[in-house]
Amino acid sequence: MKKIKALALSALVAGFVVSCQQDDVNNQEVTNATVELSKKHQLAVQAAGVNPNGAKYVTMQHLDGASFDAIQSGDIILALDKLAEQALASDGDTKQYHTHNLVSQGRTIDVVGFTGGRNALTQRMRTGLQWAVNNYNRISTSLTFRLTFEASEDADMVVYNAGGTRAGGVAEFPSNGRPGKYIAIYGGMDNFSNNVNEHVMTHEMGHALGLRHTDYARRVCEDGGNETAGIDGAIHIPGTPSVNQWGAPGLDTDSIMISCFNSQVDGEFSEYDVVALEYLY
Ligand SMILES: [Zn+2]
Repeated sequence: MKKIKALALSALVAGFVVSCQQDDVNNQEVTNATVELSKKHQLAVQAAGVNPNGAKYVTMQHLDGASFDAIQSGDIILALDKLAEQALASDGDTKQYHTHNLVSQGRTIDVVGFTGGRNALTQRMRTGLQWAVNNYNRISTSLTFRLTFEASEDADMVVYNAGGTRAGGVAEFPSNGRPGKYIAIYGGMDNFSNNVNEHVMTHEMGHALGLRHTDYARRVCEDGGNETAGIDGAIHIPGTPSVNQWGAPGLDTDSIMISCFNSQVDGEFSEYDVVALEYLY
């Protein structure tokens, strides 16, 4: 088992900060050894609808030892060689959103909760992942999720423990009709309840299925500003809120896809998350 060097290079800002609540999870870590994005990549990241502020180069080394160069912003990983794959779209409000790339309809998605060596999920993480998979299987979509716990990467999604003390995780968007394969969960999640683990697992699986942050255009987390729609696309999902009771642009603050969390989250989809997923799939 090779050591995961994923994310080790640079200052990483994981995507979960709530500054307006007392029991916030603040997993921002700043180290030196950061390399500024080139102008070209800054523009590409912005064009990909991802916040370039705080975005860093990372080398993702997966469990099989294969590595690729990527840019990380918050809890989203953009592989450099996939930046150009995404198509252009834009939208602006605070609703449920998805990227252009989605998972093919009707797929059975094999999910591995990794159990090998230092990358093994802890018991709490496993419970959280089981509950997250249950969340996706409980709603009415064409997708079926089949979860096993093993030391194998032969799966559509591989959820593993990336160690460290931070909370949260990172995921990739889908490509070629397949979900983002690797979901890294930070070691600090073992300090949180089963429900919080369920929340983070469900959230990262949401990205891997093409969901963007519900608050992408108006971040509720004060961790570096809004994201743009860009070439990944931020397409409003019909049936999810566009205006609130005061007539202002609405935001489903109960959404599992809000860009930050606190220790009180219940791990469950909001009403509109279900609308969104059942619309897409
Ligand atoms: Zn996220």
